[in-house]
Amino acid sequence: MIRKALVLFSGGQDSTTCLAWALTRFERVETIGFDYGQRHRIELDCRGVIRQEIASRFPQWAGKLGEDHLLDLSLIKHLGSSALTEDRAIEMQANGLPNTFVPARNLLFLTSAAALAYRRGLDALVGGMCETDYSGYPDCRDNTLKALQVALSLGLDAPMTVETPLMFLTKAQTWTLARQLGGAALVNLIVEHTHTCYLGERGKRFDWGYGCGACPACELRKNGWETYRQT
Ligand code: ZN
Repeated sequence: MIRKALVLFSGGQDSTTCLAWALTRFERVETIGFDYGQRHRIELDCRGVIRQEIASRFPQWAGKLGEDHLLDLSLIKHLGSSALTEDRAIEMQANGLPNTFVPARNLLFLTSAAALAYRRGLDALVGGMCETDYSGYPDCRDNTLKALQVALSLGLDAPMTVETPLMFLTKAQTWTLARQLGGAALVNLIVEHTHTCYLGERGKRFDWGYGCGACPACELRKNGWETYRQT
């Protein structure tokens, strides 16, 4: 059976590692990104560059890398604001979740991706959701995604596997996974071309890549990189 995957690809460190992971395991890999009125479009701009770099530096993967899809999910913006879509400071809310939380975002992403995958004849979704270093987003939890896999497979009446290779990895282990998948060339590509910073900063270059160096996303990436470098 030829397995074909659709990778939820935002242009960040995690989803780029997931893309490489899928390219080592599936015969055909397509990518999907979501435009939901993010404050910063820099991540979306990185996507094309990363795909091109992967195709040119990894000839063993180039032939498997299929189409890219960009889906308009601006409905997320209409459902209410968050610090990811509005110009607001990132802070904790009374319920213990940061105000970057967009309710049910991953459920919407995966359900939309499943519909597209079905149309495209792809039977697996690959996403970078992670329980380990996550900000407490309940839709990143392993059980949420396992339940969704069952719901999608039943609702489509077709197998739709939800793969989350980073689920139990720390950010340092995600760098190690990248090295195992594509060696130093992949680690360098991720440092140089992926974007994680919540503030959309790309002016300053650190060892671990570009960013403001101070927002929660930069902190996670920086700490993960420093631990990885010590191993
Ligand atoms: Zn930042």
